[in-house]
Amino acid sequence: MRQQLVFLLQLQQSDVKVRELESAVKQLPAKLDPLRKDLAKLQTMLDGERSKLAETDSWRKSQQELIDRDRDALKAAQSKLQASKNSKEFGAASREVENRRKSIGDREGELKKVSEASSTGATQLASRDKDVDSLRTELANSEAAMSEQLAGLNAQLAEARAARDAARAQVEIKWIKVYDSLVAKRGYSVAPVVKGICQGCHMALPPQLNNILARMESIETCPRCSRLVYRKELLDLKPDEPKKE
Ligand SMILES: [Zn+2]
Repeated sequence: MRQQLVFLLQLQQSDVKVRELESAVKQLPAKLDPLRKDLAKLQTMLDGERSKLAETDSWRKSQQELIDRDRDALKAAQSKLQASKNSKEFGAASREVENRRKSIGDREGELKKVSEASSTGATQLASRDKDVDSLRTELANSEAAMSEQLAGLNAQLAEARAARDAARAQVEIKWIKVYDSLVAKRGYSVAPVVKGICQGCHMALPPQLNNILARMESIETCPRCSRLVYRKELLDLKPDEPKKE
């Protein structure tokens, strides 16, 4: 019976280890989620800025075309002015020259302002692009490190599962059934008793039961939580210290 209890305890310990490793494997990839989210947000922001800059560029091009057209019209008006034969033609041509010059001046002024703003924007965008690039590199490095870490955890998990299966194989089938049903109902199955108190549910066991436990001839259950109980001082197993005979 003592041996069965030892096996049951080993099974419980290896089950705990397997569960811990399983949850670590599951949680690890999510650790990089904040970085991934930050990067996506920045990327969206930069894409927005980039498309605004592109719009401004196309506005500048169309503005330049209008200026070129004004210049052509100005040349035509200047020719008309030189060819004017009377004061009426001269007046009309000089008004036209005046209007075109003003229009060119206005458009060029506006174009200059917009070009300056757009050049500042392009510089800012380039520097933010660099930031995003370094963030992306950071993420790639972290992902590589994480995948190594994950591989290590998975190897440990495979080892822990093998140890768990080996422990299970040594427990008699009737106790496996009890063990599994207690795990399902109570989370874990085997509880030590310290100074007559079940550590699973903190109830004091009847003294008679405590005496039976001292003999270690049978596997007993706690009357309150139904866990399989043993006197801790008689069977003190620490994790990674399989048995003391
Ligand atoms: Zn109990």
